[in-house]
Amino acid sequence: MTLQKEITLPKNHADTLIRHAKQNEPNESCAILFGKNYDGRFVTIDICLTKNSEPSPVNFTISNHDLIKAYETCEKKNLEIIAIFHSHPNSAAYPSSTDRQYMEINPVPWIIYSNTNNEFRAYILESTVIPINVIVL
Ligand SMILES: [Zn+2]
Repeated sequence: MTLQKEITLPKNHADTLIRHAKQNEPNESCAILFGKNYDGRFVTIDICLTKNSEPSPVNFTISNHDLIKAYETCEKKNLEIIAIFHSHPNSAAYPSSTDRQYMEINPVPWIIYSNTNNEFRAYILESTVIPINVIVL
């Protein structure tokens, strides 16, 4: 039996991500989450808000500059990148076909916040894209 995967998000980080999503309206916002992966239990310890370098209401792009900064932060704090966050300003928190393509390149959990439904949902790509629980603490 495999345990249901989950990702925990401290309330203050969840609030920061929601604020980031609202500030970037009408475009998508993005961020990188750092923490630890305990066998599929992903624990968020820190977050890095990134710029959507090609602002769009239906897509996001994290610049190489922001990615390199994120990897440096990981090394300094001895954490790993546990999830990629982005928001859907005008739709539900389900991965788009573009999201699914990029999930193949970045097989970490993906957290999507829907500005319209006010909710976080997370997914991970295994043989197919499966939902994982998001727990805001
Ligand atoms: Zn998306």
